[in-house]
Amino acid sequence: DLRTVPLLVFGPYNEDGLAGLREVFDVRQLERRDIALLPEGERPVIRALALGGHLPNEAMDLLPNLEIIGHFGVGYDGVDAAHAASRGIAVTNTPDVLTDEVADTALALVLMTVRDLVRAENHARSGEWERSGPFPLTPLSLRGRRLGIMGLGRIGLAIAQRAESFGLAIEYHNRTRRSDVDYGYHASLRELAEAVDILLVAAPGGAGTERAVNAEVLRALGPKGVFINIGRGSTVDEPALIEALQNGTIAAAGLDVFADEPRIPDPLRALQNVVLLPHVASASRDTRIAMGNLVTENLTRWFLGETLASPVPESENAGLVRRS
Ligand code: NDP
Repeated sequence: DLRTVPLLVFGPYNEDGLAGLREVFDVRQLERRDIALLPEGERPVIRALALGGHLPNEAMDLLPNLEIIGHFGVGYDGVDAAHAASRGIAVTNTPDVLTDEVADTALALVLMTVRDLVRAENHARSGEWERSGPFPLTPLSLRGRRLGIMGLGRIGLAIAQRAESFGLAIEYHNRTRRSDVDYGYHASLRELAEAVDILLVAAPGGAGTERAVNAEVLRALGPKGVFINIGRGSTVDEPALIEALQNGTIAAAGLDVFADEPRIPDPLRALQNVVLLPHVASASRDTRIAMGNLVTENLTRWFLGETLASPVPESENAGLVRRS
């Protein structure tokens, strides 16, 4: 019986997921992601933590008996998993269960951006079609184009498979070439950008990809180029992207993620050649339920002494895959 195991939900959390955690653990939840909201006397009690988003190391360090962190989301750049491992704290994330949903959204964002479908929809809805005639022809098309994926992992591959069926040629950039696909590999992001018409980021955030898509990469993508980001906003030099969109260095962009969410810079919101989504790539109820279930499963397995379902690599490498 794990109902005596105190679990801290660090800030806002998916409702279905919360209900699932409450069925298993002794749950307390902070209204905001602020450890100061947890009374000092309760800090030594906490043994498990669940969150989606950012957990400062200082907060982690104020929980002396924390054993495991369940991150709601596959992208756990908000949690310092190496720091956690150094303290013997395991971290899990939610891979696979969201892959198809995110890939579907990515393809939608590509189509919306390339065919200017948001403005086309508005043209119909507003009555502009009847008043002033047909929507202008789009200068861009998917026909005969090349898609370059930065981050050909679980999600990147699901995007590639969908894009193949759309007739797009696929190329990619990872740090390591994959041996199981025959898509064109580019060891550098700039070279990938130069080779393709659409550059799509599906890589993780964090230090390794910080501002990797910079002015030089955007110049390489070129004036007919389209930039799509469903990875993390931190991977893009956002001011450089805004400038590139303003002065025609690239043609258009479709963005689901931003550098400082939920804030989107005014100049970006003012541009006509961007499609902006509020970080919804995985945001269907079904997929969020599956993600919540996986968090609960990982935390449950840990306290039952079973092997974790989806530990992050930092924890796996440190041998933190089951409670000993
Ligand atoms: P994976 O770990 O399966 O794939 C990540 C890929 O990125 C790997 O192919 C990896 O290859 C590559 N990569 C990692 N670091 C770099 C780097 N520095 N330069 C180039 N390529 C790199 O993760 P998923 O596919 O499951 O998820 C990917 C990301 O998508 C998540 O981390 C998250 O940030 C984002 N995401 C966004 C969502 C949204 O709502 N918009 C929803 C879900 C995920 P290699 O190791 O060889 O470099």
